[in-house]
Amino acid sequence: MISREEMAQARQQAFELIRASGFPVLGWERENIEVADFGLGRLQGEGAQILGLVATDRIAAKLIVLFPHQTLPEHRHPPVGADPGKEETVRAFWGQLFIYVEGPDTVSRGRIPSGQENVYSSRHEVPLAPGEQYYFEPGRKHWFQAGAEGAVLLSFSSVARDGLDEFSDPRITRATKVS
Ligand code: ZN
Repeated sequence: MISREEMAQARQQAFELIRASGFPVLGWERENIEVADFGLGRLQGEGAQILGLVATDRIAAKLIVLFPHQTLPEHRHPPVGADPGKEETVRAFWGQLFIYVEGPDTVSRGRIPSGQENVYSSRHEVPLAPGEQYYFEPGRKHWFQAGAEGAVLLSFSSVARDGLDEFSDPRITRATKVS
């Protein structure tokens, strides 16, 4: 749950980071920025700001903004019917970005959100500098964290069904409630 004021502030903060990144964005798109607190109510710690660019029945493209040290929680994109699940490529665009996948524990520059150690099992840290990309196979767990300045990244994928994403933290609800 976030307040209306918190949502407006987060949209403005995200919009300013997009502008700073040099990615072209129009003024009216600020109101289209989705502010996701994942139902945890601590947006600056675990959350994300997302501007949908393309969403059809087959593909999706999103601009994701992370505030300084903000974490987009661990999740996977499960199979849906005959679809093996969303496949996704992210491209770092601006700032400092760390992505985490299953594999040998190499967490060093980022950090697991405090008190959340049991719901972040993917501990293989991959720093992504602007221009670098990473591909996630369907069903593979991942989470993202920004460095000290925040991060702007692009996500290209097959169809996004955000409501079906499986988060490791069972308390997470994908739809943001605004008070
Ligand atoms: Zn994902």
